[in-house]
Amino acid sequence: MSYREEVLNRVITENPRQPEFHQAVREVMESLGPVIDANEAFYRREAILERLTTPDRQIQFRVTWVDDQGNVRVNNGYRIQFNNAIGPYKGGIRLHPTVNRSVMRFLAFEQIFKNSLTGLPIGGAKGGSDFDPKGKSDREVMLFCQSFMSELYRHIGPNLDVPAGDIGVGGREIGYLFGQYKRLKNEFSGVLTGKGIQYGGSLIRPEATGYGATYYTVEMLKHFGDDIKGKTVAISGFGNVAWGTAKKLEQLGAKAITISGPDGYILDEDGVTGEKIDYLLELRSSGKNICAPYADKFPGAKFFPGEKPWGVKADLYIPCATQNEIGMEEAQKMVANGCKFLCEAANMPTRNEAIDYFKENGVIVGPSKAANAGGVACSCIEMSQNAEHTIFTEDDVFEKLEAIMVNIFKQSVAACEKYNLGDDLIAGANIAGFERVANAMLMQGIV
Ligand code: NDP
Repeated sequence: MSYREEVLNRVITENPRQPEFHQAVREVMESLGPVIDANEAFYRREAILERLTTPDRQIQFRVTWVDDQGNVRVNNGYRIQFNNAIGPYKGGIRLHPTVNRSVMRFLAFEQIFKNSLTGLPIGGAKGGSDFDPKGKSDREVMLFCQSFMSELYRHIGPNLDVPAGDIGVGGREIGYLFGQYKRLKNEFSGVLTGKGIQYGGSLIRPEATGYGATYYTVEMLKHFGDDIKGKTVAISGFGNVAWGTAKKLEQLGAKAITISGPDGYILDEDGVTGEKIDYLLELRSSGKNICAPYADKFPGAKFFPGEKPWGVKADLYIPCATQNEIGMEEAQKMVANGCKFLCEAANMPTRNEAIDYFKENGVIVGPSKAANAGGVACSCIEMSQNAEHTIFTEDDVFEKLEAIMVNIFKQSVAACEKYNLGDDLIAGANIAGFERVANAMLMQGIV
């Protein structure tokens, strides 16, 4: 059995009932063949893969708060500090009922490689809770965030661990978390990113992940002799990442033709553009489902209740909602519709068997850890802005973000060339991300 298989088996045995974590580790272990197998005895002696797949630290805690009816409520809180070989831990906080230890672990593990690919000094972490902000009052969300931070504040800091937003955590939640941290520590520091621009936040941070994923898509198309202009794009979700993607696509002469939520999806052949995006943002901040009201307001749009948008014929597919939205059934529909490119803006939206099917059918997949790294890259720009006690302009941030995304794509392609991986951008990204972290770990001794 190869060293990579041994470590994968160990991860599965030691972490039972954590399918998302196993899935993320399996994908990386499969990709690392050309690097590890060529030097297996060395990496085995250094236990580099065991060290890489075992978190530095994981914190699980009770979050107790009181709802508007006076009932005491209890949720689970998590922070997984996975690897800080190249910089302080960095990764979002997710608030969603599906959050559990497996989801947290997979996200923190992926974050190691993503952060490495940005070329910036940030390590991998993730946190969150099974609290559902949907349908809660502002007061309830504030009380939850304050309670969550009352434990988390002991474990984070501007040079230690800098959380950000993710599903269910936007500007409002970051504000409440930051306020509580400031109160408990009695210091004003850049301990969280995604802050309001009034108190240290970066311009375009909310849109950065979607913008970055679109820049990555542009590079991917260019590399394969194609162009984003005029493309129709099926996207899922309508959160931060989806609206940034829809907006940037429009700016670059393409158009998103679908959006989705837990209630189904919308097909709008005229494009989800301009005032429609503004309307969706309004709906989203009201906490309501978006699809049905969208179809009522814009008569050209069709609403497909309970379905996902992956049966739609489009030039490009950019999933922007959540993990494992694309399985075998969806992949088969997409390939039958002529899918050539898939860019993963959400984290791990595609199941491993669907990835294999895409590869067999010549579909180019831009993996999430490369394609959606724009969010964390912009967060790092926010960290340097805070450390320098300054404000970067919108042009500064755009320029840095675009350069980082282009560089991520180039690094992945360079790894594909170095190891003869053909067009396998997934393996290219995993290897490029791995090499930087592994070298830093080796240079720092056995810690
Ligand atoms: P948001 O909470 O803003 O939006 C998430 C979107 O996905 C919403 O449309 C939501 O629908 C939908 N969604 C969430 N969970 C589910 C589910 N279980 N089933 C169906 N739909 C679901 O999150 P973001 O846009 O910030 O994040 C989207 C994805 O991008 C996630 O995978 C996240 O990890 C990833 N990502 C985000 C980054 C960021 O900067 N925000 C950075 C890098 C990656 P609804 O709200 O109606 O439930």
